[in-house]
Amino acid sequence: MDNILIDVKSAEDIFPKYQNTPIGLLLEYHNLNRSKEIYDTAQLLVGMCMDNRKHLNIPDNFAYIIRTGGANLRYSEFKVSYAIAVGGVQHIALIGHNNCGMVSLANRKELFIEGLVEKAGWDKEKAEEHFNQFAPMFEIGNEIDFVLNEAKRLRGKYPKITIAPMLYKVEDNRLYLIEE
Ligand SMILES: [Zn+2]
Repeated sequence: MDNILIDVKSAEDIFPKYQNTPIGLLLEYHNLNRSKEIYDTAQLLVGMCMDNRKHLNIPDNFAYIIRTGGANLRYSEFKVSYAIAVGGVQHIALIGHNNCGMVSLANRKELFIEGLVEKAGWDKEKAEEHFNQFAPMFEIGNEIDFVLNEAKRLRGKYPKITIAPMLYKVEDNRLYLIEE
């Protein structure tokens, strides 16, 4: 079944469970240009891809942000725990994006190996070993399915925290909610 993306064009498009929460505010700031309030503490944690095409339109101090390949937080758990336990956030926005480089990594294996050899001075064998060791950990398969599964996994791990999976479209720079 295809996942349905909801373009948030007005505050009413935000799912009721996220309205009047930092998740709703994130959508209002980024998509609806809500005027920026002043924050002195983080309101939520954002997990998003390291991809250079993405930039969030949010106030200063509004969010902790962990950027990783594919918004994959599996190897950033201590930081997630820190944002919750010490930073006090109760909400996580997990933002995947279309056209993500962490999809189908195997197709870029040669490019990866040649790049490390030519641009970083690695020897070919080391570069290949490096790819083979890490690509399976960072491959996300499909952007939307990945954030949905990652949201489920994190809900299991942090049961009191609200976790919202979203998609960022690089062609229009907007956030979309994903119907689960
Ligand atoms: Zn990406």
